[in-house]
Amino acid sequence: MSTHAHLIGGRRVAAEATIPVLNPSDGAEIGRLARGTAREVDAACRAADAALNGPWGRITAAERGRLLLRLAELIRRDAERLAALESLDVGKPIRQARADAAACARYFEFYGGAADKIHGETIPSADGILAMTLWEPHGVTAHIIPWNYPMQILGRSLGGALAMGNAAVVKPAEDASLSTLAVAELALEAGFPEGVVNVVTGLGEEAGAALTGHPLVAHISFTGSPEVGTLIQKAAAERTIPVTLELGGKSPQVVFADAEMETVLPTVMAGIIQNAGQTCSAGSRLLVEDAAYDRLLDALAERFAKLEAGPAERDLDLGPLVNLSQKRRVEGFLDLAARDGIRAASRGRIASNAPDGGYYVPPVLLADVDARHTLAQEEIFGPVLVATRFRDEEEALALANGTPFGLVAGVWTRDIGRGLRLARRIRAGQVFVNNYGAAGGIELPFGGVKRSGHGREKGFEALRGFGALKTVAIRHG
Ligand code: NAP
Ligand code: MG
Repeated sequence: MSTHAHLIGGRRVAAEATIPVLNPSDGAEIGRLARGTAREVDAACRAADAALNGPWGRITAAERGRLLLRLAELIRRDAERLAALESLDVGKPIRQARADAAACARYFEFYGGAADKIHGETIPSADGILAMTLWEPHGVTAHIIPWNYPMQILGRSLGGALAMGNAAVVKPAEDASLSTLAVAELALEAGFPEGVVNVVTGLGEEAGAALTGHPLVAHISFTGSPEVGTLIQKAAAERTIPVTLELGGKSPQVVFADAEMETVLPTVMAGIIQNAGQTCSAGSRLLVEDAAYDRLLDALAERFAKLEAGPAERDLDLGPLVNLSQKRRVEGFLDLAARDGIRAASRGRIASNAPDGGYYVPPVLLADVDARHTLAQEEIFGPVLVATRFRDEEEALALANGTPFGLVAGVWTRDIGRGLRLARRIRAGQVFVNNYGAAGGIELPFGGVKRSGHGREKGFEALRGFGALKTVAIRHG
């Protein structure tokens, strides 16, 4: 059983105290993780600051791009090892962990290609003045990564920040730190100077809070719960630094009776079952037009009944949830559903030989849920699909917009006019018409409105968030 160290200034820094690493598939301890304190966070921020004042601060954009591309290659080389590590650490079925490793590589590749294509403008100004804008890094960027897609979210956050020339301190989730440490080691192998990528592991309220409050941190990128997102924004406000917050959602799949049901079915299933529903952009609210409601629910019920949750290495439909508290949280929502008489139209099962200590929750399809009920309003973050019917386009729109969140929406219809109207009127950061997720959408700006957060990651747009725009005006007479 190994004890994992922090990675600070290019060196492994052993821990004074440790926390357990648990395998969610059986609950067994598989290692120990360094429990970072304000001291290690301070050392990491200083190492990042030193890197900015060293060669990294003078490196050309093209060279930054090359390093990012090299990192992408190394992640591809080690994809199988990284996928196995992730699968063991967070309980993802191995196929899904492989997809995460591939996406992680693709993020570094995308931002590697973008690094030397970010440029400012010249701006017409007063006579005798030459005015221009320059993109510069913020400086030390903090990255607080959640446990649901550790490699993907690391790639999207770190890739953009490094492309802009920032130096990073990463605090991965205590339940999902192994792949971050492994990718940070690969960054060293790729040739990133020491101190450009630092990782401090440990607890959110300890290492995470120390990082978001550190005076050298100039930007915070956070993905996680609205509650912690609010704390992060307060910490940033204390020092007036920018934040990017991605806080999840309750994303609707709006299905009209004229939709192509052969595509709706597998896509709606994947949108809630992938990663056992622990996905910020999960299509967790199914809104269906009256005329198609019973037919679609029957077809979904048949599919739900065949689903099986089991140990990650068995690569079934679902793995376990990430930890015991997440399992209890989801079960709490299901208890509430039972108490309020909400009908379970179908349920999957836990594989018969799944270990007792694993954090399994069978997937559930809940039918006829009142749109105002907690189950239809709050992010459950588990394999629970909540179905509600609607009469017409206006009601569909009101329901789609009727939660505090606004991350993603799917609209399914053969009427392209209706698809476009809803794409414009739904309040969300991303709307997909007749698809959901555009196969990962690394190139597509992503983020929320309302309680889902603000700022954009992914795509070229993310680079603006990771950079500070400077205007320079020169009087030449
Ligand atoms: P969380 O507490 O918001 O965790 C997200 C990240 O923030 C983790 O790295 C966490 O570290 C860190 N953190 C926690 N407290 C912090 C603090 N005071 N200062 C700085 N960083 C801090 O989320 P969770 O408790 O793991 O999950 C709870 C719920 O959040 C889930 O049920 C789900 O609804 C939602 N969630 C959403 C997303 C998403 O993608 N939008 C991702 C994860 C969770 P530690 O894990 O080490 O504490
Ligand atoms: Mg774990």
